[in-house]
Amino acid sequence: MVSAPVTAESAPRKRVLLAAPRGYCAGVDRAVQTVESALERFGAPVYVRKEIVHNKHVVQTLEERGAVFVEENDEVPEGALVIFSAHGVAPDVHHSAKNRNLRTIDATCPLVTKVHKEAVRFAEEGYDILLIGHEGHEEVIGTTGEAPEHIKLVDGPDGVDGVEVRDPAKVAWLSQTTLSVDETQQTVARLKQRFPLLLDPPSDDICYATQNRQIAVKQIAGQCDLLIVVGSKNSSNSVRLVEVALEVGVPASYLVDFAEEVDPAWFEGVTTVGLTSGASVPENLVQDVLELLAAHGYGEVEEVRSAQEKLLFALPHELKRLQASEPTRP
Ligand code: SF4
Repeated sequence: MVSAPVTAESAPRKRVLLAAPRGYCAGVDRAVQTVESALERFGAPVYVRKEIVHNKHVVQTLEERGAVFVEENDEVPEGALVIFSAHGVAPDVHHSAKNRNLRTIDATCPLVTKVHKEAVRFAEEGYDILLIGHEGHEEVIGTTGEAPEHIKLVDGPDGVDGVEVRDPAKVAWLSQTTLSVDETQQTVARLKQRFPLLLDPPSDDICYATQNRQIAVKQIAGQCDLLIVVGSKNSSNSVRLVEVALEVGVPASYLVDFAEEVDPAWFEGVTTVGLTSGASVPENLVQDVLELLAAHGYGEVEEVRSAQEKLLFALPHELKRLQASEPTRP
């Protein structure tokens, strides 16, 4: 039997499904703007403790403008200005800054601050807090520092069996803001089997941006042969998007910081490419990937939106206070 030749008409239509919402969330936007405003107002250098947000491009761009990223306060000259990242810090970081006479601006996302407050309240009420999150993540370290005697880390469903609490009747759970919604539900279900009186947080800790980006991926997943996520490897919410895509059946999914990292071999047999980006990713990086995709024949782009996002956060009040009290840059 002779098969029909593939003509332009019969060839499958190559296309891109562009997930929306994607990219910058309100907390990242605020944190990046905080560093930019501090640089404009006070001039370089402006010290930033840890990566302001987990994105290579953002960090490189701010470095070029005069931001100096450090791991700890003791790397900041006495009396200098330091900004704390969007992921939040433990109270002892504020104390050490005070001891070094540092001027500080806290760019912690307000939705992370909300989790810190919940931790403090549960601890004050005598609860042990089961914090679902990834060991070593800056946000988890910051939240744990609010009540170290009360908080036990639960790193996913497999971490449930090993958890010890003082009183099974006085336990509550909280979570990191950037987890997989589905996996967290599984973890909570297993925790509730072990601790039937487990108290829920007053509201979702996984933030709106993380949830919306996961829902947007699920919405296009069924039609995609490949899903590319733009984001950095240390960005929790970006990594989760790759996992979500694979879990819901996309045959292949990859995380890239930049368009140059896309391997053309991934396009073998691929008709529909899904594209999205993590909450710390500027849109120009997504546009670079779209250009590359167009160069490989994926010029048709359809945006699929599953939610509108209008949330905006005001800049940190310390920025305004410092702006009022300090001389302008020369
Ligand atoms: S991902 Fe969520 S918690 Fe993190 S900065 Fe953005 S809005 Fe805030």
